[in-house]
This record gives sequence, C-alpha cells and structure tokens, in this order.
Amino acid sequence: MRRFEIARKRMVQEQILARGITSPRLIEALLTIPRHLFVQEAMADQAYSDGPLPIGEKQTISQPYMVALMTDLLELGGSEHVLEIGTGSGYQTAILATLARRVWTIERIRPLALQARKVLDSLGLININIKVGDGTLGWPEEAPFDAILVTAGAPAIPEALAEQLAPGGRLVIPVGNEADQTILRIRKGQDGSLSHETGVGCRFVPLIGQQGWQTAA
Ligand code: SAM
Repeated sequence: MRRFEIARKRMVQEQILARGITSPRLIEALLTIPRHLFVQEAMADQAYSDGPLPIGEKQTISQPYMVALMTDLLELGGSEHVLEIGTGSGYQTAILATLARRVWTIERIRPLALQARKVLDSLGLININIKVGDGTLGWPEEAPFDAILVTAGAPAIPEALAEQLAPGGRLVIPVGNEADQTILRIRKGQDGSLSHETGVGCRFVPLIGQQGWQTAA
C-alpha cells in the first residue's frame, strides 16, 4: 500500500541514512521488506517509527536502526550462510535472507516462530530454515556459519556460537547486563583466533538459555 511505502522511505531517510548507514544493498532491502506485516495489525501504523514495538509473548521487534546497524556489521556480500538467534517477528530474518544465500534462525517461543514462518512464507522468502529451541547452543548440524547474529541481550558470548563461526566469519551480539548491553562484533581469523570490536550501547530483551541468562526476567 502506498502509505506504507511512503513511511518506509521516510524511515530509511530519517533513521538510517541520516545516522550514517549507507550500504546500497542493505538500504534496498530496508526499502523493500514490508515491516508493517511483521507487527500486530493494530500497530501497523507504528511499524516504521523509530523504536522497538511489542510483538506479544513479552518480546519486541527491534528498532529499525538497530536492525540496520547489526546487519551492516555482518558485512554480507550475498554468498553467506547466516545463523540468527531470536527470530522474534521475523523482520530481521527477512532482511538477512534478502542479503545472504541462506538463513538458519532459532526462536525459543513457538507461537512467535510459527507467526514469523507464516509472514516469511507469504513474502516468498524460501531461503530460510526456522527451528524452535535454545539458540545459545547454535545449530551444530548446519555449522559453520559465515555470519551469526544474536538479537537478544547476552551475559557473555556463548561458546557454542563462537565455535560454530567459520574462519573469516563475523558474530554480532549485544553483551552486558539485563538492562544495558553493548553491541560486540567478533571476527574469527583463518587460524581460529577471535578478535573483538565494541560498538554502541543498546537495550535488548534477554537471551535465555543454557549459555545465556538462566530465567526470564
Ligand atoms: N530480530 C527480531 C525481530 O526483528 O523481530 C527481534 C527479536 S527480539 C528483540 C529477541 C528474540 O529472541 C525474542 O523473540 C526471544 O524470544 C528470543 N530469544 C531469547 N532467548 C533465545 C534463545 N536462547 N534462543 C532463541 N531465541 C531466543
């Protein structure tokens, strides 16, 4: 619908380009994916606003800028196998699937995974595998991954995810306490060594699992 297209263009201009994210393929994906389909119908008009929104089950769809920033840090060229932890609404998954070869995504809350699957299927995005489970353990059967994105706040980098990163791969993850985190990018060298870079502060819902927080806040 035309009004959503206009809202999407405005979101990209005012929230993404204005804050310095300019990668052409990413900008094109943000202009194309209909974010309003990933929120509850009653909230469709707020879908392009500059913040996270509730999606049920006490979870959120991330702020558009956070989605763009974390995706940009993954440096996707189009050939990558990507693992996402925290499918949520599936919006970030759709962006990743547009920019990489294949996406494996894990969500711990079944109704969210089912709803995300429905919307992603309706958009004809066929290069996505979704499973319900504890993403802190990764998806060992499909490893290694060229890029791993965690979209929930972790107390520390889950060892399983660092292990499942391919040589040359990037892992982007918010790490900190339950109230505030910092975006980290971890790179795996060809020799298996890990280097860390620190990014902006953020506030994500907690990553709950064996290698995350133990219980829901
Ligand atoms: N990227 C999502 C989007 O665009 O809608 C937002 C994700 S939301 C901020 C974080 C998600 O991580 C929630 O849906 C939550 O249930 C999920 N989550 C938390 N811990 C998890 C775990 N161990 N494994 C898989 N998903 C987890």
